[in-house]
Amino acid sequence: MTTVVWGFKVVKLFLLGLGGWASNPFMNHTSLLLVSERNRILIDVGECTYSSLRMCTPYDVNDLDYVVVTHRHGDHLLGLPTMLIHAKRLGTRIRVVGLKDVYEAINELLRSIGIPGYSSIMEFRAIEDGSKLRLGDATLTAISAIHPVPALMLRFDIDGKCIAYSGDSSPNANFIDLIRGCGALIHEASADNEFREDALKYGHSTVGDAVRVAKEAEVKRLILVHRDLNPLTLRSTPIPVVLVHRCDVLDI
Ligand SMILES: [Zn+2]
Repeated sequence: MTTVVWGFKVVKLFLLGLGGWASNPFMNHTSLLLVSERNRILIDVGECTYSSLRMCTPYDVNDLDYVVVTHRHGDHLLGLPTMLIHAKRLGTRIRVVGLKDVYEAINELLRSIGIPGYSSIMEFRAIEDGSKLRLGDATLTAISAIHPVPALMLRFDIDGKCIAYSGDSSPNANFIDLIRGCGALIHEASADNEFREDALKYGHSTVGDAVRVAKEAEVKRLILVHRDLNPLTLRSTPIPVVLVHRCDVLDI
């Protein structure tokens, strides 16, 4: 599906899940879908990603070209076994892109839940800090996040658009350099500003951190995900902040 508006191609962003690990059914757990002319790239695959994919989009598992996993924490990964089950049912395989330790975590997970053979339904491509790779019509650049486990921060260049995703991380100057001028920044906002000390201690960001990163990187707009269960406090912000709900679709 490609939408063309006034001669410009539009990349669609489906918000499949926008909560962290302690989430609720209205936010679900972290998962995003980028749809361009030739690609459907799922980014992170928290619990219930399959149900969100079917509920929020016209796609099924066999419509996905790639699944990019930022790190092995459960709210970014635990939906993958169900995706593999459906991939097998549909006679397809899933191309998963991520860190080497994500691959090890997936295999350990599949073993522990009794379906080790489903590893063969996955084609895994390992990336690391500084990797730049072509995914269909998209270029993905990945750098290391600041998080308790190895994790990636991502920049996608698709159809002349730049879309950045923080994954889970404390504010990172390298990421600001990487995403300067991007059209959209999807950034985690795990806590409100008053809980900044705890957020940084656990390798996360606050709402204020996300806004500062967006402003310093001079991105066009900020989309807040990986949100706390408590309502966000947004005071005056120097750039447009988009507050999304599960199943929202944005044109980038
Ligand atoms: Zn995490």
